[in-house]
Amino acid sequence: MTDRIMEFLRRRREEGRDTGPVLVVDLDVVRDNYLAFAKALPDTRVFYAVKANPQPEVLDLLARLGSCFDCASVQEIQMAMAAGATPDRISFGNTIKKERDIARAYELGVRLFAVDAEVEVEKVARAAPGAKVFCRILSSGDGAEWPLSRKFGCEPAMAPRVLEHAHRLGLQAYGISFHVGSQQRNPKMWDGALASSSAIFRDLAEKGIHLQMVNLGGGFPTKYLRDVPKVKAYGEAIFKSLRKHFGNRIPETIIEPGRGMVGNAGVIEAEVVLISKKADDDKLKWVYLDIGKFNGLAETMDEAIRYPIRTAYDGDATEPCVLAGPTCDSVDVLYEKEPYELPVSLEIGAKVLIEGTGAYTTTYSAVAFNGFPPLETHCI
Ligand SMILES: *Cc1c(COP(=O)(O)O)cnc(C)c1O
Repeated sequence: MTDRIMEFLRRRREEGRDTGPVLVVDLDVVRDNYLAFAKALPDTRVFYAVKANPQPEVLDLLARLGSCFDCASVQEIQMAMAAGATPDRISFGNTIKKERDIARAYELGVRLFAVDAEVEVEKVARAAPGAKVFCRILSSGDGAEWPLSRKFGCEPAMAPRVLEHAHRLGLQAYGISFHVGSQQRNPKMWDGALASSSAIFRDLAEKGIHLQMVNLGGGFPTKYLRDVPKVKAYGEAIFKSLRKHFGNRIPETIIEPGRGMVGNAGVIEAEVVLISKKADDDKLKWVYLDIGKFNGLAETMDEAIRYPIRTAYDGDATEPCVLAGPTCDSVDVLYEKEPYELPVSLEIGAKVLIEGTGAYTTTYSAVAFNGFPPLETHCI
């Protein structure tokens, strides 16, 4: 929470515009985050993961600061270009791409593509001849609060074959990528993936294919309820692992922060719609907000991300509550398995502030489920 956001919300309330939930993003915080990444990893290029928050103001700011962009679709590529990024500062980082979208990206000037299978390499070779490709390898996701499963990447043992295939088809076999899982709380989790990467570098070098780049992915956390290590600690741990596994031949590196770039820059103000019990002897109150899984808080799925929630009643005695959203879908419950401590004095109509909501909120907000509009957003 910053003074600028407080002031914005105060004015919005005074002017009677506080009719629905709103996300306010403080661009000064995004700027500080970018500069902290650049300082913590000085020899690494930053590719902002556009999906975390593609607001034009965020993209414009990052483009001006010199950031590059990790895009997952032609639309994201176009948004990054509209913000002023030249195509040499854009990667098409999704391993799942239609061939016509690869062709469109190539037409727009993009020359850096992610792959994790030989058939995907073939699409890139046909639609983007001569482009650079990096192969994504699987990572366990251990230590991450939002792990990424086996959906993306191949086993490290398969990567040399994928990249050899790329080389054979006239592409530039450029490097390796991985993602250690989002909201990764352990800076040492990059080590295992870097060990695998260096083994792949050596394996291919023996075949005359010289990789140049390691894409360290995202995973840098934002502070929710628990403290997280500073980005400096991540920079140091990563550099140590690079030294350990690559010695004096540290390759070109890039990072793709999403959550760590914008998460703490945003605050959602929402409103309590109903506080009730299901029976006279119900131990838990149900607190219903005007925001839920379908208009911004999708990352509460499986109660994975627990946001800090502030109210004007903080300091009063608290009690565990089930916290739920406003829609008519029974999955629209935010915290129930592990109820959320809220002030006993909290009232219907009260405003609540949900912190750390700058990433993965707006784009997860439905078009009009139950008629509720997408999450209103302001960048200041
Ligand atoms: C989502 C994503 C990121 C960003 O991850 P964070 O954990 O938010 O930093 C980076 N790279 C790729 C390929 C992604 O899909």
